[in-house]
Amino acid sequence: MRRREFIRDSGVIGVGAYTASKLGFLKLDQITGGKMDTPVVISTWNFGMKANEVAWKAMSSGANSLDAVEQGVRTIEDDPEIMSVGFGGLPDEQMDVTLDASIMDWRGNCGAVGALPKIKNAVSVARTVMERSEHVMLAGEGAYKFALAQGFKPIDLLTDKSREAWLRWRESLGPNNNWLGPHSMDDLGDNHDTIGLLALDTKGHLSGAVSTSGLAWKIHGRVGDSPIIGAGLYVDGKVGAAASTGVGEANMRIVGSHLVVQSMKAGASPQDACEIAIRRAIEVHSKILKKDKSFQLAYIGLSAKGEVGGAAIRKGFQYAIGKNGTNKLVDSKYLYIG
Ligand code: ASP
Repeated sequence: MRRREFIRDSGVIGVGAYTASKLGFLKLDQITGGKMDTPVVISTWNFGMKANEVAWKAMSSGANSLDAVEQGVRTIEDDPEIMSVGFGGLPDEQMDVTLDASIMDWRGNCGAVGALPKIKNAVSVARTVMERSEHVMLAGEGAYKFALAQGFKPIDLLTDKSREAWLRWRESLGPNNNWLGPHSMDDLGDNHDTIGLLALDTKGHLSGAVSTSGLAWKIHGRVGDSPIIGAGLYVDGKVGAAASTGVGEANMRIVGSHLVVQSMKAGASPQDACEIAIRRAIEVHSKILKKDKSFQLAYIGLSAKGEVGGAAIRKGFQYAIGKNGTNKLVDSKYLYIG
C-alpha cells in the first residue's frame, strides 16, 4: 500500500462534525518524517472541528497552509445549517445576506472582501483579491463585480431558515427597538459568529482565514472586523497568527489580532497574547460590558512553533485544536465576570 493510500484508509477524516475525532497521528508522522509537531490547526467555535479536519487532511496530503485554511473555511461557508457564515447566513436589516472574509499567508500576502453579496465562498474571493489584484480589500458591489469577472457564480445566499429567522426578528421589533442589541444569544438563537482558522503546515508555514455573515440584522452596508487585516486576522510568518470572533466593532477599536501577534513577538505565548488583547478590550468597553450581558469577543492564537491559545471576554466561547494527531474542542478561558 502506498503511503497516501495508507493515510486515506486509516481514517484521517470522515468522522462526524462537532465531535472529537482522531486525525491520524501515526500516519502524519510518516509524512513529516518523524517531526510530530506539524501540521497544527486551530479554529473558532464547534464548527471549527469540521474546518480543522478539512485543513488537516489537505496539509497531510501535501497542501500548504494557505490552501488548507481556504479549504477548511469553504466547508463552513458551504453548510446552510451554519447560520453565521456563508450560504444560509443570517441577513441584514433589508434581508440581504452579505459576507465578510479575509485570508493571509506567512509571506505577508493578504486579501479581503467586505459586505459581499450573492457569492458563497467569500474566502476564495478574498484570496483572488490577494492574488489577482494590487489591492488588499474590495467591498460591496465592487467586490461582487470583481468576483463575477473572476468566474465566481452568483447564488441566493438566503435559505428558508434564514428568511424565517429574519421574519421573526422583524415581527419582534417594537417602535423603540434599535437594530444592534443584544449582540449574541437572544430569542432567535445565536445571531453571529465567525469561522477563524489558523494553520501551520509541515514546512513551518503559517496562514489564516476568517469568514462570516456578520452581525444578524446589521445596517445594510455594515462591514465588520473580519476583512480588516490586523483586526479580524493577522499573520506574521516568523512569529504567529491570530483571528477573532465576537462583536466586530469592539475588535476594530483595538485592532486585536495584530495586538495578539505583536505580543507574541514581544515574547508572550499565544495564550498570554490572547489574554492581553482581551484585557485591552475589557478596558476599552467597560461601560457597555456592564449593560450588555451578551457582549462577547474572543481570540485564538497560533505561534510559528506550533503553540496554541485562546481567550474570550465572557464564558461560552469554544475553539477547536488539531495538534499531535487529535482534534478536540476546548472551552476557552474567559476574563470578565459580571
Ligand atoms: N466578528 C463578527 C462581526 O462582527 C461576528 C462574530 O464573529 O460573532 O461581523
